[in-house]
Amino acid sequence: METKIPRRVVVLGATGSIGRSAAAELSEHAAEFQVVALAARNNLDELARQSAIFHPDTVITTDPALEKELAAKLPAGICAASGEEAMVDAAIRDDVDIVLCAVIGTAGIRPVLEALKRGKRVALASKEVLALAGELVMAEAKRHPGCLVPIDSEHSGVFQVLAGRRPDEIAKVWLTASGGAFRDWDPAKLPEATFADALRHPTWKMGDKITVDSASLMNKALELIEAHFLFDLPSDKLDVVINAQSVVHALAELTDGSFIAQLSVPDMKLAIRYALTWPERLPGAVGKTTLPALGKLEFREVDHIHFPAIALARRAIELSGTMPAVLNAADEVAVARFREGEIKFTDIWQLVGDVMEKIPVEPQRSLEQILDCDRRAREAARAWHR
Ligand code: NDP
Ligand code: MG
Repeated sequence: METKIPRRVVVLGATGSIGRSAAAELSEHAAEFQVVALAARNNLDELARQSAIFHPDTVITTDPALEKELAAKLPAGICAASGEEAMVDAAIRDDVDIVLCAVIGTAGIRPVLEALKRGKRVALASKEVLALAGELVMAEAKRHPGCLVPIDSEHSGVFQVLAGRRPDEIAKVWLTASGGAFRDWDPAKLPEATFADALRHPTWKMGDKITVDSASLMNKALELIEAHFLFDLPSDKLDVVINAQSVVHALAELTDGSFIAQLSVPDMKLAIRYALTWPERLPGAVGKTTLPALGKLEFREVDHIHFPAIALARRAIELSGTMPAVLNAADEVAVARFREGEIKFTDIWQLVGDVMEKIPVEPQRSLEQILDCDRRAREAARAWHR
């Protein structure tokens, strides 16, 4: 990427947990970055608040019915736009250097693909982009090396520990998991766990869906899939270990027995800043700490018997093609049904596994085909019963 300053940034999913952390980083480093467009779905007040800070030229709601209301809330001189296509238009603008994608769901895929095609830096938080379209996205990313930089903390960690290493040095890449809200629960009580229980994450503050996924380890399942695509690693070179403090984010186990780890305080702003500035590093308000303040490092094994998410991810990676998309779609519906009280927490894994059995795998051909498969997996997940 060119190092012209300020770098011109588009933020997709600006109003979410990652989007707001990105806003904090971008305003702290205002001399380095210029925000030229913001997008979200329906949180118009947060879009208006950030617009007053950044004065982008375009602000997008993906809901066309809200465009007028958005326009009325924006400071003078800022254009309102609407629809998912408007996010693609913003992502491919000639003057844009970086597209930060933190949209939840599938709406981030096209803007990311189109931005990568044009060689723009994509700072990627949205897990759905790689879970659904990993093969298509990585085909574009390989044509433009250095464009795709992960924000997910474990992948930011892997990105850093693998830097400069040859593939034949790597025995395994370890992603860490906090263990989520139920890591210290009696497994016999898991069927009674409520949505509110699942939201009590011990270390990270995140959006609701990913917090429930942390409790079920489906978040780690999606991350295994992301890591498989991002770093071109087979399932047997990827593993998961619990680091309850969420201080160690990733480790590379080298063939001689050494481990290289990436550590930091658990705050997404660090990974966001690195994805925006890589290969440079910028100091900031978040991130400074001393080793004693990080506390002791404890690792423990994942309980794969009571939390069978990783096995589902391995199966999706091995079957590949459209199967990671099926896993992702089934999980999204499962979490929504758990929220509504329609299924138990422990049904999440069963539902996902059953939908993966039901929907036949196909090789990835096009985004339309993958989205069609996503739709069929969602239907099957909505129809699922114990
Ligand atoms: P949130 O639910 O907090 O925010 C989601 C964002 O996406 C909001 O800005 C929302 O807008 C926007 N959005 C939702 N649907 C659409 C749509 N159809 N079109 C455009 N924008 C849409 O999620 P998070 O910030 O927690 O997560 C975002 C992504 O980053 C997810 O893929 C997640 O897995 C990933 N991630 C998150 C981490 C975290 O710490 N939170 C860590 C690593 C990855 P609105 O507010 O208007 O609805
Ligand atoms: Mg993560």
